[in-house]
Amino acid sequence: MNTPKTMKAAVLVDYGDLRVIEVPVPEIGPGEALVKVNCCAICGSDPGVIARGWQGLTPVGSFIPGHEFTGTIVAVAPDVIRLKVGDRVAVEPHKGCGRCENCLRGLYTTCLNYGNLAMGHRHMGFISNGGYAEYAACFDSMLHKLPDSISFEEGAILTIAATSLHGYERAGWVRPGETVVVTGPGALGLISARLARLMGAGRVVLTGTREERLAIGRRMGVDTTLNVKEVDVCRAVMEMTGGIGADLVVECSGQAEAAAEVMEFVRKNGRISFNGVYQAPVTLPLNKVVQWNLLITGPKAEGLWNLERAIPLMADGRLDVKPLITHRFSLDEINRALATFTGREGGAIKVLVKP
Ligand SMILES: [Zn+2]
Ligand SMILES: [Zn+2]
Repeated sequence: MNTPKTMKAAVLVDYGDLRVIEVPVPEIGPGEALVKVNCCAICGSDPGVIARGWQGLTPVGSFIPGHEFTGTIVAVAPDVIRLKVGDRVAVEPHKGCGRCENCLRGLYTTCLNYGNLAMGHRHMGFISNGGYAEYAACFDSMLHKLPDSISFEEGAILTIAATSLHGYERAGWVRPGETVVVTGPGALGLISARLARLMGAGRVVLTGTREERLAIGRRMGVDTTLNVKEVDVCRAVMEMTGGIGADLVVECSGQAEAAAEVMEFVRKNGRISFNGVYQAPVTLPLNKVVQWNLLITGPKAEGLWNLERAIPLMADGRLDVKPLITHRFSLDEINRALATFTGREGGAIKVLVKP
């Protein structure tokens, strides 16, 4: 396989200054494979990473963002035996250091050496180079083989599905017959609603403000959509549950007001998974957590090998993410792609960048 010496990549020259330039193709070290990127989806966290970095750990100058991507393996290090040249793969952006207590317990997205590249930690597209490029060097453990029935474009959505599943795992999954309320019909919310259906929820409720997104939710198997501009969500959930409340609430809006409101319609002994990216602290009535036996949790990204769990669900069409893929741009057009995504132009949900 003859790989070129240089490639096109979107480089964060400085915060807020992303440029497509020619850079060296990354060299692979022990345990790594070189992936020829097919496409990389814009994530809600990307604009913040590009504008101001991630938790003070994103380097500028030669950093390449992008973390929801798929591609084909074009080279492997001699010690990589699970994967081979030609394999189609989805990339899991986290790699733990592999030697701290959390990593040894499988909790690699909360690695205690987060950000310490010398210790072997990686978080592609956040603190180490990612997928807005023609090629990316990825560790063996970050790569998940795609079956033929999952396209590269759909595979780029697996990281979000895995984040949703990680949240469900931490919240005790969905038990058959439960009422699950998902707040916020972005990609994570829509996929979370679909997964609740697949896990046997008795009723799946999706809340939001954009009618066209709620309509996609209904097409993905949501029983009831509530437009928060038109109905009182608390009253509606209480009415449909006989005054008891939701068994499980999955907060995906990332909005402070919506996050606080979930405390009003979760049931006694209920569970809440906070899956959004919250810009500021949110006040919650903690006495209610104690007196009502509530379980509150949140997933740090994909985690616990849930990306692998999502693959068979997507492979046979039970998790169909095609309605979420609304726009495609070439790598040269990445800044236009980002503007389309942040401005939600043309009903943008998932915007793909294709090197
Ligand atoms: Zn993401
Ligand atoms: Zn670790």
